[in-house]
Amino acid sequence: MKNVILLGATGSIGTQTLDLLKEFNKEYKLVAFSFGKNIEKAKQIINEFKPALVSCELKEDLENLKKEFKDIEFCYGRNGLIKVATYETQNPIVINSLVGSCGLEPTIKAMEINRDIYLANKETLVVGGKLVKEIAKEKNVKIIPIDSEHSAIKQLIDGHNKKDIKRLIITASGGAFRDKTRLELVNVTKDDALKHPNWQMGEKITIDCATMMNKGFELLEAHYLFDIEMDKIVPLQHKESIIHSMVEFNDGSIFAQMASSDMHLPIKYALMHPKHTKSSNIKPLDIENISSLSFQKIDYEKYPMITYAAYALEKGDIYPTILNASNEACVRLFLDGKIKFLDIERIVKECLDSKDYEKYSFEEFNLDLILKVDRTVKDDVLNGKYW
Ligand code: MN
Repeated sequence: MKNVILLGATGSIGTQTLDLLKEFNKEYKLVAFSFGKNIEKAKQIINEFKPALVSCELKEDLENLKKEFKDIEFCYGRNGLIKVATYETQNPIVINSLVGSCGLEPTIKAMEINRDIYLANKETLVVGGKLVKEIAKEKNVKIIPIDSEHSAIKQLIDGHNKKDIKRLIITASGGAFRDKTRLELVNVTKDDALKHPNWQMGEKITIDCATMMNKGFELLEAHYLFDIEMDKIVPLQHKESIIHSMVEFNDGSIFAQMASSDMHLPIKYALMHPKHTKSSNIKPLDIENISSLSFQKIDYEKYPMITYAAYALEKGDIYPTILNASNEACVRLFLDGKIKFLDIERIVKECLDSKDYEKYSFEEFNLDLILKVDRTVKDDVLNGKYW
């Protein structure tokens, strides 16, 4: 029996993970979880799975939960996430499906006590990739991806020699605005941006798909996960979202992984890799009824955000943190109706090029610096410094 610790249980990935824990309840048991503000959903999870420890975001929810569930331990906030990630149990599996840079610290704390991380929180690798890799090496722990593209690559290279890889081809659906011109992007609304053509996901990542920041993040994520240079990782637009990524080997052979657009598969593969265990939660791909697959080059003029991840990495260790913090704050502002869609990319670029943050390049790159810069940039953006 494996004891599962789930960070971000009420979100999209969290919910789909719970579907699988229910299906495979002879092998996996939920022992601890965290959630944000969705207390009704959290109560359902508590009643169904009877975990020992639960963390919420807000202190007032903590008081309510304590009154209702007397024999469960509760905690909250930043320390609550760390407490859940490091919860003492036999055969722990830590699944991080938090949204945003708040996922970094609990990831690091769990790795420091020799735990492998099942990672859906891509911001962990964007902001702290270098640090997380160092800890993984030192503690001899693994980072197992839960992202459809990276799961695809893992499925394709498990059993192959890494030296044979020529490049990774990361497919991109193109998001909500793939059929719009650059000019048409000027006045798009939040509701337009939240209509992803192929995937049902949380709001933050759906906006990141519309700006293509998500794909920029995923290039960085692949770089850290698979130890491959950035210039060997290329994005390719594939609007059907049937091929979830490809690996080109040195002899010219290109392998592709195809499946329906359903995150249950990447979650299940992370849990059970390298086995391709059958799951009733996964909707099979109806290959007989797919008449064609299409590929287009990425239009970098329409989507400059996709180039910012490599740009940030090149500028220095702290710049991916600035990239992510400014993006997270901008997405918040856009969802709150305070800035327009194209302001997101403008502000992110201004932050990357701002003289105000240059001084952080000269400080030692560690968790404290990341947390400080993350807070500073988010506050600057949210408080109106750039709009
Ligand atoms: Mn993805």
